[in-house]
Amino acid sequence: MKRILLIEDEPGLVLTITDGLWAEGFTVTSCEDGPSGLAAALGGENDAIVLDGMLPGMDGLQVLAKLRAAGKRMPVLMLTARSQTADKVAGLRGGADDYLTKPFAMAELVARLEVMLRRTTQELQFGDVSVDVVAASVKRAGTTVTLSAKEYQLLKYLVERPGEVVGREELLANVWGYGASISTRTVDVHMTWLRQKLETHASEPRFLVTVRGMGYRFTP
Ligand code: CA
Repeated sequence: MKRILLIEDEPGLVLTITDGLWAEGFTVTSCEDGPSGLAAALGGENDAIVLDGMLPGMDGLQVLAKLRAAGKRMPVLMLTARSQTADKVAGLRGGADDYLTKPFAMAELVARLEVMLRRTTQELQFGDVSVDVVAASVKRAGTTVTLSAKEYQLLKYLVERPGEVVGREELLANVWGYGASISTRTVDVHMTWLRQKLETHASEPRFLVTVRGMGYRFTP
C-alpha cells in the first residue's frame, strides 16, 4: 500500500480526497496546516505528498522548500486554488513534481499520483532479483548482474508495469526507439538473454512471462 500524506486545510476536500484515495488502495494521513504538515512530512514514512498551496501557518511553497532543504525527495503534487501560471511555475521550480488546479476530478489526482510514484520508485524487487532504478544496476541474490543497456531498459520497462501485457511493438518503440530498423524478433532475443540471467528456469520463466500472441508481462 502506498502511503500518501495530505496537507490541506479545507475539511470538505480532506474528506473527499481521503475517501477517494482509500478507495483506490492508498493509505492517507492528513494534516490541516503548514507546520504540522511539514513535521509529518519530515518525520513520517510517506511515499508521496499532496500539498495545498494556501495553508494556515506556513504556505505550501514554504513547506516544500523546507522539505527539499532537509533532503527529502519524495514526490510532491501541489494543489492550487488559483489558476495563475506564476504559482504553478513557482511550485515546480520549488521542487514540486506535479500540480493540479482546483477543482479537479478525483480520477485525475489518482492518475497523477500513480505516474509520480511509478517514476520515483527507487528499487524494484522480484524473486532474488533487485533492480535499482536510480543507479541502473541489477543484483541477483546480492551479486551484480551485468546487463547490456537494452537488456536493462527492457527489464525496467516491464517491471515498472507489473501485471500489464506489453506488446513487442510497444517495447520496440520505447526501448529501441521509433525508426530503429530492427524487427520484433530482437525483442524476443533480448528477452531470452534476460531470462537466462534472471530466471531460475529460463525456459519456464516465473517473472518475465510470454503472453501468447500479445507480448510479455512482468508478473511479480
Ligand atoms: Ca487551502
